[in-house]
Parts: sequence; C-alpha cells; structure tokens
Amino acid sequence: MTKTVSVLLPIPAERAYTYAIGPEMTLAPGDIVLVPLGPRQVFGVVWDTQTDDIAASKLKQVIAKSDCPPLRATMRRFIEWVADYTISPPGMVLRMVLRTPAAYDPPSPQEGLRFSGVEPERMTSARIKVLELVREEFVWTKSGLAHAAGVSTSVIEGLIKQGVFDRIEIPPQPIVTKPEPGFAAPELSDKQRAAANELVDCVKSDTNPVSLLDGVTGSGKTEIYFEAMAEVFKNGKQVLVLLPEIALTSGFLERFEKRFGSKPAQWHSDITPKMREKIWRQVATGEVQVVVGARSALYLPFSDLGLIVVDEEHEAAFKQEDRVYYNARDMAVVRGSIAKAPVILSSATPSIESRVNANLGRYQYIRLEERYKQAAMPDLRVIDMRKNPPARGKFISPVLVREISAALERGEQSLIFLNRRGYAPLTLCRVCGHRFQCDDCSAWLVEHRFRGQLVCHHCGHNEPVPEACPGCGTLDHLVACGPGVERLGEEMLELFGDKRIMVLSSDMAGGAKRMRLELDAIAKGEADIIIGTQLVAKGHNFPLMTCVGVVDADLGLSNGDPRATERTFQLLSQVTGRAGRSGRKSIGLIQTYQPEHPVIEAIISGEREQFYEREIAARKSAGLPPFSRLASMVISSADRKKAQSHATAVRLAAKPQSEILVLGPAEAPIARIRGRYRFRLLFRAEKANTLHTYIRQVLARSPRLRGDLRLQVDVDPQSFL
Ligand code: ADP
Ligand code: ZN
Repeated sequence: MTKTVSVLLPIPAERAYTYAIGPEMTLAPGDIVLVPLGPRQVFGVVWDTQTDDIAASKLKQVIAKSDCPPLRATMRRFIEWVADYTISPPGMVLRMVLRTPAAYDPPSPQEGLRFSGVEPERMTSARIKVLELVREEFVWTKSGLAHAAGVSTSVIEGLIKQGVFDRIEIPPQPIVTKPEPGFAAPELSDKQRAAANELVDCVKSDTNPVSLLDGVTGSGKTEIYFEAMAEVFKNGKQVLVLLPEIALTSGFLERFEKRFGSKPAQWHSDITPKMREKIWRQVATGEVQVVVGARSALYLPFSDLGLIVVDEEHEAAFKQEDRVYYNARDMAVVRGSIAKAPVILSSATPSIESRVNANLGRYQYIRLEERYKQAAMPDLRVIDMRKNPPARGKFISPVLVREISAALERGEQSLIFLNRRGYAPLTLCRVCGHRFQCDDCSAWLVEHRFRGQLVCHHCGHNEPVPEACPGCGTLDHLVACGPGVERLGEEMLELFGDKRIMVLSSDMAGGAKRMRLELDAIAKGEADIIIGTQLVAKGHNFPLMTCVGVVDADLGLSNGDPRATERTFQLLSQVTGRAGRSGRKSIGLIQTYQPEHPVIEAIISGEREQFYEREIAARKSAGLPPFSRLASMVISSADRKKAQSHATAVRLAAKPQSEILVLGPAEAPIARIRGRYRFRLLFRAEKANTLHTYIRQVLARSPRLRGDLRLQVDVDPQSFL
C-alpha cells in the first residue's frame, strides 16, 4: 500500500489534492511540503481532509518537507473559515498565506568564526588587533570581525587559512529585538487608566472578547491599547496590529519604539522580499513578537497569537477587492476567536456595524469622550456656499481664505481637504462640447496638470493633454471643469505666493517613501498650507495644524451607496480632527451647499451620538446592513451581450425564496472598466447563513463560465460601483 496525504495548494481548486509519500517521509497536517503540479513544483500544506482514492500509478509523490514550523490547526481552520465565508476556493486563501516561497526553504546558514587557540605563524599589527578581539569566547562573522578590528577582510581570510579559527554555524539573527513591556509606560489619566484596565482584563480573561475602543481623535487610544499589548508581551505571546495605510505610518512605528524600546516588524507591500522571508519565518517560530501591518498581515502564521488590534477599524481600506474579497476587520475578529485571542477595534468614528455589535453586547464598549489633557476639539463651523460663494472660477470661499491668512499670521499650518486627485475631474472643448473620456472605461479622463496628462482613475490609462480638440480641431479652447487638489494648489499660490504650499495625493511621484518624507516634513512645520486628499486626513499628527478646511463636504453625500452618510461623517470627523492636536486653539471649516443636512449638523454640533442613533435607526428601517446581509455578483466580459446574457442566466438560476431578495441584473454604475462590460446582481437576506447557502445554490445552477466571462462574488460589499 502506498501512503498518501492530502495537500492543499495555492491554486483556485475547491479541494486538497492527493499525493503519495515516500517510505522515508512522515507528514502531519500543517506541514509545508513541496509537490509537483503539472510541470511546476509548488509549496502546499498537508491538510486534514480525506485523501482521494487514486490508482497508485497515477499518484505523484511529495518532493520534500520544509523545515518551517507547520501551519497550526487554528490557522488551517481560519483559512477554511475565510474561504467558506467569502465563497472562495480554500486554495486561494492559502495563496495569501504562502506568498513567500523562499521562507520555506531552510535559510542559508551564516558562518561564524571562533578562535581555535592556534596562534598565527607571523604577527602583524593588523593580526594583533584581530587576535585581541577574538581571545574571548565569542563567535564573529567575517565582516563583523574585520569591521570591529578595523582591518580588511583579507586579513581575516589569511588567518582562517592558518587554522586560527574554528568555523561554526550561526543561527539566523532575529530581525527585531523583543519589546519591553515596561520600557516607557506613560502616566495615564484616570479615564485612560480605566479604559486600559478593561483592555488588560480582556487579555487576562480566557473568553477572548472583542472590544470596541471608541474615543475622539487625540484621546489617547493608542497609548491605551499599548497597555493591553504590554500585558501580552509579558506573557511572551504575539500581537498583530492592523493599520489601514501602513506604508505611511512611520509615526506609529516611532511611538511603538518609544513605548517598548524596540521596533515592531512591519508587513506591507513596500518591504523587500528578503525581509518578508525573514518575518514570515520568525513569526512562525515565535521570535517576532509583534507585527504591524496592512490587511495581508492577517495571514501570517503566528505561533502564539495573544492579541489583535485593528486601528481605524471603520476604514474601507481594510476591504480587499481582488481575488478573495474580504474585510480584514471582520476576519480579524474571526481569527481572534479561532486563535482564542482578544481583539481590539479602535476608532474615533466607529463603523455602524461595530457600534451595533457593541449595542447588542457582542462587543465590549469602551468610550473616551475627551482629548488627552483636555486639549480642545477644533471649533467647527459650516460655510454656507450659497451665502459665501468663492470668486468666479475659484473654489475656496472668502471665509476660509480669511482663516487661512489668520493661521499664516500666527505661524501655524492650514490643511485644505478635497478628495479628488489631479487638476480637474472633467475637461471639455468650449467650441464643440467634446468631453475627454477613457477608451476602456466609462469614466471621464482627469487632467493632471503637473504631469501634463489626462488620466483615467480606473485603469491608469494616460495621454498628453492635446492642444487642439480631437472633436473639432479648434486650438486652445479646452476648459477644465471642477476642482482637484492641484487646482486648489494653484488657487492658493495666487493668494499666498510667498508661502510654502504643498499638494499631496497618492499619485505623487516617488510613491509611499516620498509621501512619508513629505508627511514628516509637514509634522516638523516645513509647510504652511497643505492641500490634500484623504491620505493626509488620516491618523497623522501635525502639531502646528490649527486650521482645516473641507472644500466639498457634499461630494460623498449623494452617490447611492448605503454607507454614503456614514463615510462622509467619518471622513469629515477625521479631517477636522487633524486640527489642534497639540492643544492649540483650532478651527475646522466645512464648505457645503446643504448646511442643514443631518450629517453636517451632527459634525458641527458635536452630537455624534445623535448621528449614530439616527443612522442606525435608518439602516434598521431600510433593512440595510448590519440588519441584513448583502452579497453582490459582478459578471463581466469584453463582449457586452455575453456579459448581459450570462447575468440574466444567473438571475434565472436564482429561484424565488421567501427570505431572499434578489435585485438585477443591472448595468453597473461604472458600466465598463478596462474594456470589460459589467452587470451586477445584489442579494439580500436577514441571516448570513441563509445568504451563503442560497448563493452557493445559485452558482451551482448557473451555466459554466466560458471564454472571457468572469463572475466575482462579493460578500458584505463595500463598493457598489
Ligand atoms: P488617538 O489615537 O486617540 O487619536 P493618541 O494616542 O494618538 O490619540 O494620543 C494623542 C496625543 O496625546 C499623542 O501625541 C499621545 O502621545 C498624547 N498622549 C495621550 N495620552 C497620553 C498620556 N497619558 N501621556 C502622555 N501623552 C499622551
Ligand atoms: Zn480607463
């Protein structure tokens, strides 16, 4: 009898594959193994499922077993859970876990040198320097020893030849040192202490609760959850901190280091493959005790997870919309529950979902109502744009301009916020009315004047801004319609030409690194007026910023997304919360054409509780999440007819069922992206389980996908475009 084993592979297959094991090999579930797959060799994980009955002659054999620690049962259950919930093949979830193949090969050993007691035949001054160092019982690397002795490596090589050293293997160095729980514990205020104690109790309890830490910006939420982390470090367990924009949060890393005396490991798209490899391994072995990362860090193989913190838990950036569609905030709660680790969700503007969970007692609710040291919140006001319109062709009201000048006079900073990249969202020809549109997407091209390009924000297509209109050939009659951040930059330059003006958005050349530098520069006071998109609005601490202006508060309020009001509330609160963080008197101004809108009123009046109550009631009466569950399907193809008829066929496969509401198919609001036509279906049920079962049935009954047809399921969709 051939021994066989199930191996889950990082491919879009529904089940694990069966392989033979050679007589010399023993394998257990969780082991990482190298197996043949067609012409390739891939790493997979031994799974706890039944093997298939396959003729021995057809079985392929496991090639090798990695010396990496096996994936723990909790991780394997988590992978299955995510796959099941998101209706994705488990292999595709595993693919997010096994993304660092080099980590599963044994790390190349480093060679160390230790004095063997043999003296060299001939002494030189360089050799004396080396020997002085090595007489102690220490192990040196070649380059480390050369450096310490101030000699070249050839001196060391000469000594090696003469047998002065024994060569020994040095285990790989830890990439980070362990955090010290008591390194620099802050003096907490009474209220902060009470909140911290509740979180510390969660860490100590064995019921692994979820806590919602809801505190205004600047209330010290970070300091407070650091206390819970300290408790975990004391027990030698691991902590995962998820941040929405990790590449930009050098501030967080510095704070961590100040508090715990060492740097955390970082996990995001910007780190080198070599570093990834090390982190992956050392997280698996438990050498790395804390990882700060983007949502993908959720799939690291922690050996002994003691706590997960999700900072800015309301952020849409936690939702991945690629291959496996999942919300890292929600999956963090699942991961915590499977790993028996408490979870802390932190935000100044929690999501409606989390607030409802807190109201229902599913989450422990911890609230901080004031800023640390009673630093005042900014004085918030609306600018009614009907009464205080900007000058012709301009976008900033004289009221805001006045406040910016006042801040400049005080030597303080202003932030002008607009969530629109580029110069203008639409360009048209004044003569023939031609509008510039993307060839491949249903979208206008956005002018980026700094770069001299028209850019599609959906597919990235770009072309130079032409001098003549492609419609009628008239020269120099193109007009920019509406504002983008670049255009506001120009407006500020006309008014305050002698000041340091900075325009920041995600398409700035130089990427995340440059952005980080710019943000640091702002924090140090090296700019007077900052114009930015939401990237600047989040989480950063700018001590000199005392005037914040929101250019178009109405932008997000009317777009048919069930979370539009919630998102606007969160964004405006976060943006205005940038002001006055260091205790200076500050102001937040919101330009709007609808000052009486409940969201605007809630922010201005500071009656956030009323906002939550009203929004929760509205969701409840409309049967929207979290009082129901939604799932969407997007069916797409380069051929519009094909996409539409497949969508119709899927709809026909959706048999009427009393608890399920099915809407569509309808052409998607962005009808075409990257040349693919898109049709949407939306499903709603009261319970997640009902919805899942139903969707699986619909998929099973639907015709097979042929040619370039694609169908993407999105459970708990955030985007409805
Ligand atoms: P939040 O995350 O709620 O916005 P932070 O934790 O960033 O608040 O705190 C805001 C600022 O106040 C930070 O600069 C932080 O270091 C400081 N701070 C908060 N609490 C304390 C404390 N107890 N002792 C010293 N500084 C504190
Ligand atoms: Zn496009």
